[in-house]
Amino acid sequence: MFKLKIFSDELNALDEERFCRLFPELGKAVPELFRSMSVASQSLSNVDFFGNPQGVRRDNGFEQAVSSVLGACISDHVIELKAPVLIHLNTLRMIVLKWDQLTEQESALNYFGYIFYRFHKYGKALVSEKLKYLGDVEVKNESSMAHYFLPHEERHWYTSQLGVGDKGSSDFFLYEDAEKVSLPQPGYVIHFKKSQQYNLKLPFFVLEEDIELAQAQSSKLVTACPSCAQKCRVSVFDVMQIKCPKCQSTWKQRA
Ligand SMILES: [Zn+2]
Repeated sequence: MFKLKIFSDELNALDEERFCRLFPELGKAVPELFRSMSVASQSLSNVDFFGNPQGVRRDNGFEQAVSSVLGACISDHVIELKAPVLIHLNTLRMIVLKWDQLTEQESALNYFGYIFYRFHKYGKALVSEKLKYLGDVEVKNESSMAHYFLPHEERHWYTSQLGVGDKGSSDFFLYEDAEKVSLPQPGYVIHFKKSQQYNLKLPFFVLEEDIELAQAQSSKLVTACPSCAQKCRVSVFDVMQIKCPKCQSTWKQRA
């Protein structure tokens, strides 16, 4: 089983059987979500094929499946109802990535990306509305398992000519795949509208202050080592394999 850097160690360690034992309701609800997303992804590619954006099927059971998964999240104590909706979206994102890690049904992920990145506001409203409805149920022992599904993101973002990348992974997004916003905090809202290559490993939002600006001097680039922060001066290539002279860490970076 491949490991994901953005998972906590305890989440990475779960195989399907242990996942279903720890999170029995999610184990029942998530397969249906994947089924509906698979169908919807298929209908999305048909839309692209016929060039008809109105043609997305809305009767595929996706919204009901989201509702069931959120209900399961409450029963399995993985979300705290009072938390901001963006935290809930991240929990859903981690659940979907985890299920993909266990079952490798990548085709379904496309639709999750389509709804929660490209139509972010709609996705957020959908989750808020479903949780408001489900929240009327009395919840005991809330959120004791939430830590499993919090993104474990240790990122070292940097700017390149075409977009923003992470030194610790190959995750990268094009400037055209994000909207630069100044409120409520300056940063990038990732929507993948240009490439439509939805990478669920990327967060919905990257803070500008967390991104290292490229410092180029003629054909050299100055960049900080993600492990020890040592400033490294390297020759510029399209893709650079960099080794820190101080701590010997290596990473890849695009110009
Ligand atoms: Zn270093």
